[in-house]
Amino acid sequence: MKACAFDYRRPTQLGEVREWSASDDVRLIAGGQSLGPMLNLRLAQPETLVDISALSPLRGFDEQADGLMIGSAITHAEIEDGLLPDVTRGILPRIARGIAYRAVRSRGTIGGSIAHGDPAADWIASLAALGGEVVLYDGRRYRRLRIADFVLGAFQTAITPGELITAVWVPRVPAASRFGYFKLCRKAGELAHAIGVTWRHGESGEARYVIAATQGRPIVLEHDVADDRDHWMASLERQAPGLDALERQLHIDALERALTKSETL
Ligand SMILES: Cc1cc2nc3c(=O)[nH]c(=O)nc-3n(C[C@H](O)[C@H](O)[C@H](O)COP(=O)(O)OP(=O)(O)OC[C@H]3O[C@@H](n4cnc5c(N)ncnc54)[C@H](O)[C@@H]3O)c2cc1C
Repeated sequence: MKACAFDYRRPTQLGEVREWSASDDVRLIAGGQSLGPMLNLRLAQPETLVDISALSPLRGFDEQADGLMIGSAITHAEIEDGLLPDVTRGILPRIARGIAYRAVRSRGTIGGSIAHGDPAADWIASLAALGGEVVLYDGRRYRRLRIADFVLGAFQTAITPGELITAVWVPRVPAASRFGYFKLCRKAGELAHAIGVTWRHGESGEARYVIAATQGRPIVLEHDVADDRDHWMASLERQAPGLDALERQLHIDALERALTKSETL
């Protein structure tokens, strides 16, 4: 099938996006790696596509003492290739490298991935563990939300009509932090069936573990409950009730493997 006919706009100023994006008939497009297939399957039938992929305010980055602000239209490949300062001691390039294959990574963007809200998205899982945030802009004001709070469910986010993600905030990872990531896929280049992420802050010692790709929002296990294996299963049963016993076990195994493979950075 082919997409329905649509108008195509490519604004050069952030303010122009606002003029169009509040309408129901308009969809933003960044890398098109998720929206493109939805258009072709006619799951999305916008009258107008507003292409934000070349907007300069979304294409930059800003390193600060406590982290990195990444423009939402930065691609997975640019992160993989180390074109941004690495405030995460290798975590960001490693996650980028594990997304799909190079053709997808060359176009897909970090902001588009988070905005899409796929439960199996690697950025959502990993940045929920690292304490990442999205910066949202509605043409008048900016607001920031933790990624773990921004994603409300499968393909559901806290974005409101007329808002877009302008940037993604990634906190700086101190020395002696520990990070583990395990992604269960049937084939390389596919979205995951289960993701486990473990993270321990090198200075405060606080832990945050994430169970993702559950068909819902990421399950975040904080502080002392993170290491309590009974709590892992109880959280899964409570927060992902649609999973059967095998799927639950795959998620527990993914988290266990992430923990086993975790490394000091
Ligand atoms: C074959 C294949 C394999 C893949 N495998 C993986 C994988 O292993 N791991 C993984 O994480 N992902 C995977 N993906 C998804 C990929 O990472 C996409 O790049 C990503 O999900 C969407 O990013 P995009 O920039 O292409 O967004 P688009 O497709 O352009 O947009 C997606 C949605 O987000 C909205 N949007 C885009 N940018 C913004 C913004 N700044 N503000 C507000 N809304 C916005 C759009 O309106 C649309 O609704 C795969 C995709 C394909 C095609």
